Amino acid sequence: MKELTGFVIQLSDYSNSDLIMNILTENGSETISCKGVKKISSKNKSLCQLYSKINIEVDDKSKYLILRQGTILKFPELAYKSLVTNYVLGVFTNFLMENIKNNLDFEKAYLSLEQLTNQESDIITLIKVLFLILSLSGNQINVEACVSCGSSKVSSFSLSEGGFYCSNCSLERLEKAELQKIRRFLKSDLLSESELPHSFLNTSKLVKDLFEIIKEQTGITIRNSNLFKDIF
Ligand SMILES: [Zn+2]
Repeated sequence: MKELTGFVIQLSDYSNSDLIMNILTENGSETISCKGVKKISSKNKSLCQLYSKINIEVDDKSKYLILRQGTILKFPELAYKSLVTNYVLGVFTNFLMENIKNNLDFEKAYLSLEQLTNQESDIITLIKVLFLILSLSGNQINVEACVSCGSSKVSSFSLSEGGFYCSNCSLERLEKAELQKIRRFLKSDLLSESELPHSFLNTSKLVKDLFEIIKEQTGITIRNSNLFKDIF
């Protein structure tokens, strides 16, 4: 066994399920045979992302280096986006398959797929689709009232606690303008331009929280969800 740290600089097809990967390490480039990584179930699939920085263990007993396992140290912005997009697509399509016979809002679902598969889809779109999954599954966030007592005089917001809170039910306080921004964002549809409220600016935390909530509320997750431990 040998350990390598480097950037993935080239990926080429080898067979239906295998890839050849070139990584650039501090000491030069190495060519590694990556068996089975094109299969959906492969635990090493995520390592084969162009321009990612990875740390891997390779088998060096035969003529070629063979990938055994590894971790992702860094994603380039684009790979990160495509991975998150693919994950959201995975969660979304699993959700659709389970709920296709229910009274689903197919127009919204269709539009979401349209947006997610667009090249220009951005993190705001991804976040909106995650909120949409919650709302389509009957877990819509109430934007008008305190989740605890129903009072319309809300003064704080907590995604993990399920929504807005009034001053009697929570000690937290947010500025009125920020509360309005959150409400506006949650009410906006996929096509409208939206500004991320200050509370949502840590997008990787927000995406992770939304994944957790969706998993809790709908039971829906996708294979390889453990990969996300490496990213967030
Ligand atoms: Zn309350």
